[in-house]
Amino acid sequence: MIREDRSLSESSALATCAVCGGREFETVCSAREIGAQMDFLRRFHRRRLRPPVSPEAMEERGDFTQDYAARIAACRRCGLILRHPRPKPEEILRLYAQDEYGEERLNQLFRAQTDLYRRKARSLRRLLPDGARVIEAGSFVGGFLAAGRERGWEVTGVDPGAEVTDFCQSKGLPVFRGTLEEAPFGAESVDAVVIWNTFDQLPEPGPALDAARRLLRPGGLLTLRIPNGESFRFFSSRLSRFRREHGPAKTLRHFLLLAMAWNNLLAFPYLYGYSTATLDRLLSPHGFRRIGSTPDTLVRLSDEKTKLWAAWEERVVKTLLKGMARAEGRLTPSRCALAPWLDLFYRKGMPGDTRM
Ligand SMILES: [Zn+2]
Repeated sequence: MIREDRSLSESSALATCAVCGGREFETVCSAREIGAQMDFLRRFHRRRLRPPVSPEAMEERGDFTQDYAARIAACRRCGLILRHPRPKPEEILRLYAQDEYGEERLNQLFRAQTDLYRRKARSLRRLLPDGARVIEAGSFVGGFLAAGRERGWEVTGVDPGAEVTDFCQSKGLPVFRGTLEEAPFGAESVDAVVIWNTFDQLPEPGPALDAARRLLRPGGLLTLRIPNGESFRFFSSRLSRFRREHGPAKTLRHFLLLAMAWNNLLAFPYLYGYSTATLDRLLSPHGFRRIGSTPDTLVRLSDEKTKLWAAWEERVVKTLLKGMARAEGRLTPSRCALAPWLDLFYRKGMPGDTRM
């Protein structure tokens, strides 16, 4: 985890947009606004946990991976959202490799994530036959590896984390320790590459996409799950607009804050905020064509440590958001601002495919 660490040197990544090569950026949220969102998020979780609230319980609630002071900017040309400043890519990888959780927490995460990924595996069933060879980049504690194996797929993980790869291997789940670019698998040898909740944390997405293209057979599937940058921008702009108002605007502002907090969008703890449009633009030159997308919310955060009213609050907020996102999809198919998270499905071009 990247904590407050003054020794982290800044990358000049803002100089050029990773998607379109643009060089002009505008501020979506200043460092001060991000700091205020972080403060709200800590108060938000503290109020909703049953006392006594331990530092560990707080840490489990929020994804405070990118919690150094930063502003959130957007490329003026393509709309890609990004944090600035940020650590250098090699520092980010080193910190991920050194992440430590402890045996008990790893087992808790494994149980929770296996449940979650059973649902994700079910949604992939229509795209992947029994026996499909699947690679998961960023396999973490192995929840998807276990769920995929139950589905009858041959799933292998790739992760730079030392502790999590040891943990997966102790459960008999095959994992290569390293990055997708380093993974020693044959060209065109896999049916699918899935990257859940990790793609937005890659400082340089290009090499990972090249690796995915090399590993996938023609027509193979690339699945990405991302926090929706378009959604963060939409909610943040409304928050700023309603700051000093009262009455209905105050209620709306409160709902926006709840929606962002329950979906880990407050303070935007990610390196990149892609949207459907920016991802299409990024992936097309690598030979991928989008075949579908599913609007979603973050997985359930409430557990036995959550106060009852807060668990209901989360359920109501996420149900409302899902309904709003579905309605938005029907009314304005080119826009997708109300879904805090997106699952996106791409196919690698077939030989002779001229649509790439
Ligand atoms: Zn751009």
